[in-house]
Amino acid sequence: MQSINPFSGETIRNYPEYTSAEVEQIIVHVDRAFQQWKLTSFEERSVCMKNLQAKLLEKKAELASVMTSEMGKVLREAIGEIEKCALVCAFYAENAESFLKNERIKTEASESYITYQPIGTVLAVMPWNFPFWQVFRFLAPALMAGNTGVLKHASNVSGCALAIEQLVIDAGFPENVFRTLLIGSKEVKAVIENPFIKAVTLTGSTPAGKSVASVAGSMLKKSVLELGGSDPYLILEDANIETASRLCVTSRLLNAGQSCIGAKRFIVADQIYDQFKAEFVRLMAAANYGDPLEPQTTIGPLARIDLRDELHQQVAKSREMGATVLLGGFIPEGKAAFYTPTVLENVVPEMPAYHEELFGPVAVLYRFKTEEEAIRIANDTVFGLGAGIFTADIAKAKMLAEKGLEAGCVFVNDFVKSDPRLPFGGIKGSGYGRELSAVGIREFMNVKTVVVSIN
Ligand code: NAP
Repeated sequence: MQSINPFSGETIRNYPEYTSAEVEQIIVHVDRAFQQWKLTSFEERSVCMKNLQAKLLEKKAELASVMTSEMGKVLREAIGEIEKCALVCAFYAENAESFLKNERIKTEASESYITYQPIGTVLAVMPWNFPFWQVFRFLAPALMAGNTGVLKHASNVSGCALAIEQLVIDAGFPENVFRTLLIGSKEVKAVIENPFIKAVTLTGSTPAGKSVASVAGSMLKKSVLELGGSDPYLILEDANIETASRLCVTSRLLNAGQSCIGAKRFIVADQIYDQFKAEFVRLMAAANYGDPLEPQTTIGPLARIDLRDELHQQVAKSREMGATVLLGGFIPEGKAAFYTPTVLENVVPEMPAYHEELFGPVAVLYRFKTEEEAIRIANDTVFGLGAGIFTADIAKAKMLAEKGLEAGCVFVNDFVKSDPRLPFGGIKGSGYGRELSAVGIREFMNVKTVVVSIN
């Protein structure tokens, strides 16, 4: 497994994969740790979780630079990501107990209630795009709930994976409650099949999700899937064009466009289309790609050369099929994995840019004449992760958000963000299950019913 700096092209380090015997041994240790960890109180867990929050903040500069060197994220965003991880630790340290408290239900019995009990070791298969945040939003609720975890991180961010494992140790958690497995994706099947693994959560692409879910299904183990997205944003006739274009571009370019909840398709009312387009293209063109360590850089390189080339193929093929390239659409010279901010229009259903997720700084503009047409375009996708609406008519926005858009969340007059307090997840090809909030922490619990009759 190789970590390559996508800005310099240099190999940072080669990591030998763990053997099957090593993996099995680690899982045995983690299961043993579970047998003790599940008996600890929320207070004890919360002390460790708050230490973890403190460790993250103490080491944020160092941790952020590991991320930037392995996957190219601009340092400013990497620091923000570490701070968000600290926030999720604090959130679950403070709220896990109330989210998981027993719930009384009135029946004919003397007493009936629901108790939420941990299920054991959960496997987390995670992507490289938010190498800390994706892991922490699993890790914090899982450990606070009394579960234990093993992490199979993306093969290009092993440095991040090992740094996270070390942080958990440094925070004073008992040995083996959370372990990293340096393995390739082919080894995931055997891990899911291991009897000590009770469930699996995957954040990643749709093919990876299908593969993991089918193995988990065949073993009757629960899975949660957070997959890709092609989030549509509706810009209605009465929208504030300046705000809408600014926030849409911010969302499209965050993390160099490599975000599942990045705004990807912009569906704009006919009356304001030309004005929005001019402002949107101007702001996309103003983005500064360069060294991710430099403070003036807006977007760094993509995480890997092969991913950058795949994105370019999607753009090039769409252009060949008749899409108009309003901006960008080319690979800059040099060894960094840059892609130029790109804006497309005249994209039709036959083109890759219409149906496929564009995981980089590439935006597609659509024009609509009626709201029905806008909703039809927005929902004409296999994905259903997030969506946005820009309008002054809040009543209409809420109606479209609730009844119109097929998505796991809709943000009105803002772009979609994950927040520890709110459930996060998708529908359709974007997966199932939820992370974060009270809903997320209950995903990997035994929702146990207890009925007491006094005779
Ligand atoms: P990916 O190729 O699916 O990889 C994600 C993880 O799954 C990696 O650890 C990868 O391991 C592993 N993996 C890949 N194929 C697998 C298989 N057949 N069986 C088991 N494990 C497998 O995705 P990515 O390119 O890293 O990440 C980008 C994708 O993630 C995008 O589609 C993005 O939208 C999605 N994403 C979704 C969310 C969300 O919350 N919904 C958040 C972030 C990203 P290797 O690295 O060893 O191949």
